[in-house]
Amino acid sequence: MAENIIKIPLKVFLLLISHLFISISLSDYAELPLASGFDFPVGAPTGSGYYKARGFWPNGHVGEDWNGKGGGNTDLGDPVYSIGDGIVVQSRDVRRGWGNVIIIRHVFMDKNSTIKLMDSLYAHLDSRNVVLNQIVKRGQRIGAIGNNRGMYLAHLHFETRKNLSIGMHRSSFAKTYSNYYSPTSFIRSHQNCKQNKRTYKVPINTFAPYPGTYPKNKNQNLASKSIPIKSETNTNKILKPKKIDQPTKKTLLSTLDPKIRGIILKKPKKNPVIKTEPKKEKLGLLARIRARYTGSKDSTRKVKRSRFSPRKRP
Ligand SMILES: [Zn+2]
Repeated sequence: MAENIIKIPLKVFLLLISHLFISISLSDYAELPLASGFDFPVGAPTGSGYYKARGFWPNGHVGEDWNGKGGGNTDLGDPVYSIGDGIVVQSRDVRRGWGNVIIIRHVFMDKNSTIKLMDSLYAHLDSRNVVLNQIVKRGQRIGAIGNNRGMYLAHLHFETRKNLSIGMHRSSFAKTYSNYYSPTSFIRSHQNCKQNKRTYKVPINTFAPYPGTYPKNKNQNLASKSIPIKSETNTNKILKPKKIDQPTKKTLLSTLDPKIRGIILKKPKKNPVIKTEPKKEKLGLLARIRARYTGSKDSTRKVKRSRFSPRKRP
């Protein structure tokens, strides 16, 4: 009897907690129809009257700079349009090198009928015409071209992102195609996207706070490679951190012989998604190639350190 009296409040408590979790995660979604397609953010839909002053390249400029053909500051105050239907997930003055930044999240059907999510980012804006969580239409004016308080000649810095966690934490993510689309090629290949009569639950509030530290337990797996956002249960699964099998691993390990345990534990830990360091990988590969061609008997590790005496390039 006494046991039951304790068990019942415990059950109620657990039920309350689970309800709390569900209600929090559900409020982090917006219901959106599929985007009809994408246009250029200036001179919409085709970008006429503007040119790309700087293009996209991985590990460098992960966006495009768009200028008016008149040059200089002639495009200051020109309208900037949302490239597609979506929801505003950021509209604020970030200052620093960014200035006014708007980020719009889109859900769309890709060529192979997979539902995908992506963010479009518009920076250095002179003014913003939309607010957080506002639903916007393709071609809707969202702001004006700016110069970030005179820091640059007026232009639009524009990015298209696959990874929904980046927000203003660009330095924490690899500047590669795994996290970004090349904007012009994305728009050109997605001018017309298939639509249906459904709405989709689109996660919002997925960014790390800025400025500040990156939360390690949330949002890391939100890269929108092909998120199947079909039902509530599916979308909830996306947000939950994948730490289910860790406790059992611990208990199993503790029963093993300490020597064997030592060997198992020496295995390199799996890094979280954002901590990829492409530079290191590159160096390792270079070092290995160098070792092969110089005929060095030393291990690749030792060659890796010899970057202070680089060999001539072929
Ligand atoms: Zn730029």
